[in-house]
Amino acid sequence: MPSRKFADGEVVMGRWPGSVLYYEVQVTSYDDVAHLYTVKYKDGTELALKESDIRSQSSFKHRKSQSSSSSPSRRSSSRSRSRSRSPGRPAKGRRRSASQSRDQKDDKKKTIQETSLALLVLVLFKPSENNTKRYNGEPESTEKNDTSCIILEQKLKPDLEIKRVLEQYSLRSRKDDKKKEEIYSEKKTFVAVKPIEKVSTKTKELEFGGRIGTLMLILLLPATVFYLLLMCKQDDPSLLNLPPLPALESLWDGRVFGVFLLWFFLQALFYLLPIGKVVEGLPLSSGRRLQYRINGFYAFLLTAAAIGVLLYFQFELHYLYDHFMQFAVSAAAFSLALSIYLYVRSLKAPEEELAPGGNSGYFIYDFFTGHELNPRIGSFDLKYFCELRPGLIGWVVINLAMLLAEMKIHNLSVPSLSMMLVNGFQLLYVVDALWNEEAILTTMDITHDGFGFMLAFGDLVWVPFVYSLQAFYLVGHPITITWPVAAAITVLNCIGYYIFRSANSQKNNFRRNPADPKLANLKFIPTATGKGLLVTGWWGFVRHPNYLGDIIMALAWSLPCGFNHILPYFYVIYFICLLVHREARDEHHCKQKYGLAWERYCQRVPYRIFPYIY
Ligand code: NDP
Repeated sequence: MPSRKFADGEVVMGRWPGSVLYYEVQVTSYDDVAHLYTVKYKDGTELALKESDIRSQSSFKHRKSQSSSSSPSRRSSSRSRSRSRSPGRPAKGRRRSASQSRDQKDDKKKTIQETSLALLVLVLFKPSENNTKRYNGEPESTEKNDTSCIILEQKLKPDLEIKRVLEQYSLRSRKDDKKKEEIYSEKKTFVAVKPIEKVSTKTKELEFGGRIGTLMLILLLPATVFYLLLMCKQDDPSLLNLPPLPALESLWDGRVFGVFLLWFFLQALFYLLPIGKVVEGLPLSSGRRLQYRINGFYAFLLTAAAIGVLLYFQFELHYLYDHFMQFAVSAAAFSLALSIYLYVRSLKAPEEELAPGGNSGYFIYDFFTGHELNPRIGSFDLKYFCELRPGLIGWVVINLAMLLAEMKIHNLSVPSLSMMLVNGFQLLYVVDALWNEEAILTTMDITHDGFGFMLAFGDLVWVPFVYSLQAFYLVGHPITITWPVAAAITVLNCIGYYIFRSANSQKNNFRRNPADPKLANLKFIPTATGKGLLVTGWWGFVRHPNYLGDIIMALAWSLPCGFNHILPYFYVIYFICLLVHREARDEHHCKQKYGLAWERYCQRVPYRIFPYIY
């Protein structure tokens, strides 16, 4: 069998990723290892495509001139239909055949969805017949109000739902098939109605400095946490005043580890409670959607009640402050053990369940970024659980423990104003995240990154122990601030929160329902994938307004700690670096997803995070 089908320089038709639209492209090279072709679109966009996403030009000419039942698309779709429906299908193994049938069903669903999206794009922008040169993934107009697009989408939606139901029960009338055929022949599209083949691709572009970078991060991240905590304990936490290293045996306490485990499993128990709605995540590469229970806010309320009971029975919560370093060591040991478990189990995971960003084949890289996308034990989603529960709720509990420790150590009847501000601001942030828990399902962490050391350590150690640094700092280094200063900082936090929340909500609502009448005044750039890119509202102000709001809040959390030391500003400095890096990663993914449309968006909205600065 030849290793490649298309030669360098050959002009072929390449599928636009995420859609069923094919454009004229030129093959520029071929990667023997990854079995990917690099192709160049007419607009200069270069992408790596699988062989299954490339067709010869002649096959398209043939397709256009025909609307008969001999259409290859129809043939393949009916073939897969009969296969999945046949009760007498040979079973190679019960599980495998069940999942195959599900996959086929998912493929069919996806095909229909994508077909509808393709039709939407085609009808909207009315490409001239057979003119791939002019209609090369880009609409004639660059911006749209919701109206025409949404009306059309609304029209398509009920059809889609009906089709879904029919698919589910294998009830398809020949009339429908005929109708579909007519639509295709009428529009003379370049749409290929063939179920998307699932071919796994290795992660080619390594992030975080590749293997060396990720190895360094595995060592540096825990070292940074311990350095920060040791610094914070010192009377003079100046950067140059390096703390003495503690005795190793003082870092470990079995009882503290027991309390940590108790905390973790208590949160797991809350997660398992059958309260709160169950929603579907975004479609996976297989077209399947996972289900997630949204009960983070209930878990928070139950935790608050449990803490209330402990305090009522005079439990000394500042035990957490007294053993803070030991808790951090326990959490780090646990997250390391969890990462090893995750990596080992990922070796047995099917290829399509691996993370798009963590499947490089290099142990250290995949261990760090996470090899498996959604590791689950039954319906228990380990990544989703760790993202918002033990660490995030733990952060608030630590802050409260610091507040009580401050009162006890400094003999205060009420906490200091600084401590109240830090506690209040961060409580608002956590409650907001839990209240809007569903929004996490569309974030990079859930959709792109696997669950490995990066997220396990980040969620269980970095968030609770580094994000609470300001409160920890204030216990040992009290600061007095006046009411006007406190009011000014509060206003700053409110501004940051307003930008953060409204930007996130605007995008989430638009993604969930672009036809939402509340968004009717917003303009967007349509893309070849069927999704739009907002160019007015917050997303027309800068390309990541939510990051801007987050950074403003981060500054407001540090300011109550005064200006004696830079240590409490670690969070805002680190956070700017994190979000600048994250923004670059996201831009890269969006450029791949949306091609020229993304470039248009960047021209239209030139600043990334800070208006007129960056
Ligand atoms: P974002 O919520 O910023 O989402 C980025 C995605 O939004 C893109 O990939 C794209 O996805 C979509 N998008 C981009 N531009 C547009 C546009 N113009 N119109 C419509 N959709 C667009 O991603 P994050 O997951 O990074 O952040 C989520 C929140 O979490 C942020 O508020 C961030 O500040 C916060 N955060 C907090 C951290 C912390 O430690 N406290 C750490 C990281 C994040 P698509 O087109 O596929 O929908």
